Parts: sequence; C-alpha cells; structure tokens
Amino acid sequence: MIYLDNAATTRTAPEVVEAMTPYFTQYYGNAGSIYGLGSESKKALLRARETIAGTLGAEANEIYFTAGGSESDNWALKAVFEALRDKGKHIITSKIEHHAVLHTCDYLEKMGAEITYLDVDAEGVVDPLQLKRVIRPDTILISVMTANNEVGTIQPVKEIGEIAAKHGILFHTDAVQAYGHLPVDVKECHIDLLSASAHKFNGPKGVGFLYIGKRARIRAFIHGGQQERGRRAGTENVPGIVGMAVAAGRAHERLNERAETERALRDYLIGRIEERIPGVMLNGHREKRLPNNVNFGFAGMEGETMLIMLDMAGICASAGSACTSGSTDPSHVLLAMGLSGEQARGSLRLTLSEENTREELDLVVEELARIVERVRGMLVR
Ligand SMILES: *Cc1c(COP(=O)(O)O)cnc(C)c1O
Repeated sequence: MIYLDNAATTRTAPEVVEAMTPYFTQYYGNAGSIYGLGSESKKALLRARETIAGTLGAEANEIYFTAGGSESDNWALKAVFEALRDKGKHIITSKIEHHAVLHTCDYLEKMGAEITYLDVDAEGVVDPLQLKRVIRPDTILISVMTANNEVGTIQPVKEIGEIAAKHGILFHTDAVQAYGHLPVDVKECHIDLLSASAHKFNGPKGVGFLYIGKRARIRAFIHGGQQERGRRAGTENVPGIVGMAVAAGRAHERLNERAETERALRDYLIGRIEERIPGVMLNGHREKRLPNNVNFGFAGMEGETMLIMLDMAGICASAGSACTSGSTDPSHVLLAMGLSGEQARGSLRLTLSEENTREELDLVVEELARIVERVRGMLVR
C-alpha cells in the first residue's frame, strides 16, 4: 500500500502509542481525584498543556483540550458570537474554509449573524486588502485558516492578525493542517483563537485543542464539571491528550527538517506528474503551500474514478477533503479559485509524509499515467 492521504489523517506514531498505553492500563485514575493514582493523570495533563503551549508561544492556561478540530472550530465561532453579540453580529471568514467553519457559519447566520466570505485568487490565497475593505464597525470576529486542507495554500495569517488587532477584532485561525507542519506563533501573528487536531500530526484521533488567548473572553463549550477551568466539562481524555502532546513535541523537534524532506518529495512528485502526464494543472500556489500537499486537475477525468482505480493499485489518495467524499458536489475550494465544476471534479489530492520514498512516487506516477491514458482513450473511442 502507498498512503498519500495525510491531509485526511496520519498514522499514529509508534512512540505516541507507547506513551499513551500506560494511561489506559496503569495510570487510569480520574485526574479530578485526590488519591495518588488520580494525581498521575493530573500531572500528565499539566505536562501536556505546557508542551503544547510551548510550541505556539502561548501560556499553558490558554490551552483547552477538545475532541478535535471540528469541536475547536465550533467552540471558537459560536462562543465568540454569543459573547460579543451586544457589540455586533458581523463575522468575516473565507470561501475556502473547512466545513467545520463554514457549516458553523451557516448555523450562526440562522441565529442572526451576518457573514462576509472573503474571495481567494486563482491560487487560493485571500487578499488582506479585501479584508480591510469589508471590516465594519460591528465586525466581531475574523476567521481565516492558516493553510487550506485541499490545495495546501498558506494564508497571510500574520497580516490578517495585524489588521484584526488594529481594529480590535478577535482573530481565529483553523490551523488544523498547519500545526505540527509549519511554525505557528500566536503572539507574533496576533491570533486570539487557534484550532488544532492531533490526528493531523501523527497523534491519536478524537483529540485536539483550542488556544484561547487572554483577549477572548468566551463561554464554556460543554457545561458540567470544572475540567478545563470550567470551560469544557467532561472527564479528560488523558491517554489522548498525552498522545497529542508527545506528537506535538515530536513534530516540533524536527519541524524544519521534516518540512524540507517533504518539500523535496512534493516538488519531485509535482515535476514527475507534469512531465509524464499531459493535460494536468497544478491547483494552488506553487511555493506558498503546505510542504506535503500536491493537488492536480486532470483534463477530461473524474476524481472519483481515479480514486477507485488508484485504490485497486493499493494507492490511497483523495478527490478533495475526506469530509466531502461520497457527495458528488465539486469542491467549494476549487470553485472559489475559479475552476469550473468539471475542472473541480477532475482534481486529485495527494498528501505525503516524510516516510514516502521517491520509488513509491514513481510507482504512483506510472499508475496515474496508465489510468489517465485508459480513461481518456475510452472517451475518444
Ligand atoms: C481535518 C480538519 C478539520 C477537522 O478536524 P477533526 O479533528 O477531524 O474534527 C478542521 N479543519 C481542517 C482544516 C482540517 O483539515
């Protein structure tokens, strides 16, 4: 098998699993208990919070553990809207956000919010000048992702943060694809809220965090006990949180080195596809993109068909985001970049890890070339 769908999820690193295991079998005490067994869990949570805060330039008491990226996005948007609705009801986001943000915005619109969706250029990047133009006196929140999950484009987060700070508007960024892969500093970029998810950086599934900076005074997400300083009730997922912190530490230890390796593989794959297969177009920005993201449009092809044929050859890829698979709607991200429905439907996302080899990528390119030739051949006949 060749796994090229690391934007959908990653393999949990063996050392992450190893670090988690004792918190199932040995230190299973409730972190809220007084006895020694509980305090082992409590200490582990403290360490995890500090490790994660350290990777972001944040303080430990600004990190709130959640059940993943979708929950963090929901919490950030809904709670800011509630906290600030007396001040205003206008939220600015972009057309290329993940559905965890876009569908939350749909919900907030029903609750009375007014949402402005920023455009992106042909390469999938938002324009800070447009952001400046659409800010209103009643704008309470700007939510723009750090990097896109489909085409990998990296957004001008620092510029956006500076604009938000200058206008006294809270800034949330969905950093689920970026965190653990690119350096992110919440203070430098004036980020007030940041979402991340462990399974996107070799941690376990179902655990993530929301960074909530001091300026964002927002409500509890889950009401109940006093966990997460009263803002996110429920017995903590100690093994998951321990695993996430180990994964975060591991990712940041070798961040630049790994990004270099992945970038070299990425550019190799892009080059090979472009030289071997006619009628292809790279989606997204050639340089300002996640180190592991490759996304191509193939003229006259259906993404779904390519996926099924690749799967038969043992290759895992994606036609867009995992969350939209099963629906035949073309990607909202590619449409926002100006592609036609047909072009969008003929796109394929290949997301690498440093474990992939050039030999694997050569095999993938040969398989893709065969698939494209076969399907296009059938079309003309
Ligand atoms: C995967 C992803 C999410 C959702 O995270 P989950 O932990 O799977 O809920 C949100 N935003 C982006 C950009 C993602 O890639």
